[in-house]
Amino acid sequence: MKILIAEDEPISRRLLEAFLCDWGYQVQVTMDGSEAWDEIQKPEAPSLVISDWIMPNMDGLELCGNIRKMERSGYTYFIILTTKGRKEDIINGLEAGADDFLIKPFDKEELKCRIRIGERIIKLEQRILKLAATDVLTGILNRRAFMERMDQEINRSCREKTPLSFIMSDIDHFKDVNDRHGHQAGDMVLQKFVEQLISASRLYDLVGRYGGEEFTICLPGTDASQTRLIAERMRKSVENMKIMLPDGSQAIQITASFGTASLLHETEEGVDSLIKRADDALYKAKNEGRNRVCTAG
Ligand code: GH3
Ligand code: MG
Ligand code: MG
Ligand code: MG
Repeated sequence: MKILIAEDEPISRRLLEAFLCDWGYQVQVTMDGSEAWDEIQKPEAPSLVISDWIMPNMDGLELCGNIRKMERSGYTYFIILTTKGRKEDIINGLEAGADDFLIKPFDKEELKCRIRIGERIIKLEQRILKLAATDVLTGILNRRAFMERMDQEINRSCREKTPLSFIMSDIDHFKDVNDRHGHQAGDMVLQKFVEQLISASRLYDLVGRYGGEEFTICLPGTDASQTRLIAERMRKSVENMKIMLPDGSQAIQITASFGTASLLHETEEGVDSLIKRADDALYKAKNEGRNRVCTAG
């Protein structure tokens, strides 16, 4: 885990750094609040901060207040380290949004324990965030998380003028699978279907569950013809899959339909329009007899 230190006093700064490195943490050192604030706004910034209170340019409380106001997906755990030890100082610090307080000169073992508390809370939060983004049945991104990530990818693609494509897929006659083999078998089919989508996609593609038996794939850096090939690869691997029921009695075979669309930079297309075009192409694939890939014009 990465920890950011903000401390203007050189000896105290070096001591802290040495302890943290000794305990196996990656350490990023800054000399005042404003330098720390610059660092914390960067992507992949540390999620635990140990900050002195009194520093030039920006003090520890202001730094903490700024971090609390900032919109960031992960939590930043903030420990204030200071010689100010009066009760009202502690209250001020905690009210500014600090999670913990340590009075200098600090005890090494106590600091270690308090960092561990922060680490536990950060890990807990990461676990909750992951759960909130995951579809329980299939383990892939749920709709909300997929849309969030796809929005980021679309923004990047617009900025960098790189291609981006989207696939909407829907299992054919899936209701029949449930009706014939039961809901549990249906669930298993959904899991196996997702395995095929993942193995036909690439590491940086996003695969999400849009709802029910509808799944979405976002392909950054991929143009229309490459996307068609990938969707076709997915379609074939689904068609060739034989899913054995748990009692071994019967193998289920399914097919799926796919609609693909690629982001139009010339019209500054947004996410809604891209999805709508892929959905229309999927509808066309269904109408033309299912088990096929259709591409939006
Ligand atoms: P089409 O080829 O037109 O897509 O037909 P379909 O039967 O696949 O489509 P329809 O929308 O009629 O049925 C979708 C079915 O998917 C109905 C619903 O019960 C089932 N389903 C949705 N979510 C789940 C799930 O989590 N588990 C199971 N087992 N079934 C699900
Ligand atoms: Mg100081
Ligand atoms: Mg269906
Ligand atoms: Mg459907």
